Amino acid sequence: MDQLLSATAASLRKAALNEEAKHYILQNTPLFNTLKKAADRYIGGETLAETIAKATVQNQQGFKCSIEFMGENTATVAEAQSATAEFINITKGIQEHGLHSTVSLDLSHIGLAISRSLCEEHLHAICTDAAARNIEVIISAEGTERTDDVLAVYQQAARSFSNISITLQAYLYRTADDFKEIIKSPGRIRMVKGAFETAAGLSMPRGTALDNVYLQYVDTLLRERHLCAIATHHDYIQQEVKKLVQQHNADKSLYEFESLYGIQGGQLATLRDEGHPAKVYFVYGAEWYLYVCNRIAEHPINLLVALNDIVGG
Ligand SMILES: Cc1cc2nc3c(=O)[nH]c(=O)nc-3n(C[C@H](O)[C@H](O)[C@H](O)COP(=O)(O)OP(=O)(O)OC[C@H]3O[C@@H](n4cnc5c(N)ncnc54)[C@H](O)[C@@H]3O)c2cc1C
Repeated sequence: MDQLLSATAASLRKAALNEEAKHYILQNTPLFNTLKKAADRYIGGETLAETIAKATVQNQQGFKCSIEFMGENTATVAEAQSATAEFINITKGIQEHGLHSTVSLDLSHIGLAISRSLCEEHLHAICTDAAARNIEVIISAEGTERTDDVLAVYQQAARSFSNISITLQAYLYRTADDFKEIIKSPGRIRMVKGAFETAAGLSMPRGTALDNVYLQYVDTLLRERHLCAIATHHDYIQQEVKKLVQQHNADKSLYEFESLYGIQGGQLATLRDEGHPAKVYFVYGAEWYLYVCNRIAEHPINLLVALNDIVGG
């Protein structure tokens, strides 16, 4: 059964990357609506308004939120400008609705895939607007071909803005060196394991060694009293971080547990109930198809959950 689920999940991941299949699904209204039923569990919605409604509920339940307009590798200046405008809309929406929320973004969504200067100009506009509204902007980690640029843009922006944060991927061997540099800037460091496939020798696989490395980074962050986010759905890591929090007597203003909307929400709720800062990460947009396929494929049992959402809902 496990093998069958894993094989189906792998096929789903492949199908998600197949442009022809994606086009077919997006054009086929009944099929699209069926899949959307499974997607609703994982996304804020297709629009910012839908996401604000869901984030409001999460805030009422004691969770902080982060909101991302999904997209990456934007190929034209016009698309990068339009994405930038949408991120500014998010900051406006957060303020207008009094949400306790940050903004998350991929730098390649706002122009890094076109030119670094374009991306810096757009990031400057977003951070300026967000700073005026006292909102934190968190930069996501992308594929290894972009790591140098992403970190350089962050470090540059961190000199001008105190409301900017960065994501580091524990699975990359290079992060050991990057971490030493990045921790010199005061912005929050969000630790993730890492989601992208890499060339051989650049990253370590899931397993105990990675878990230990991840925990060492968090240990250092808490010991150094550096703002951080523990972005994982891994119960073992969450439990170990709780011990580190206690050991370092870390203040609640320093750290937050963060999970993607729709994934292991029960664990996050328990952390909240125990008094830890807990945050739900929303993505929204029309391009939800690949995002949702990946969430299902990375935990194959989610295929059954999706089936149940479709048939039962
Ligand atoms: C808030 C947030 C922001 C992120 N930003 C980035 C980023 O900028 N760049 C990047 O490369 N990656 C990012 N990621 C993804 C991250 O790198 C991992 O790929 C992802 O979190 C899965 O790894 P894990 O630490 O949760 O644990 P894993 O080792 O993958 O899994 C451990 C356990 O977590 C649970 N779990 C994991 N995934 C699922 C799932 N889909 N459904 C149900 N249970 C699951 C299962 O119980 C599993 O056994 C982000 C993740 C989060 C939570």
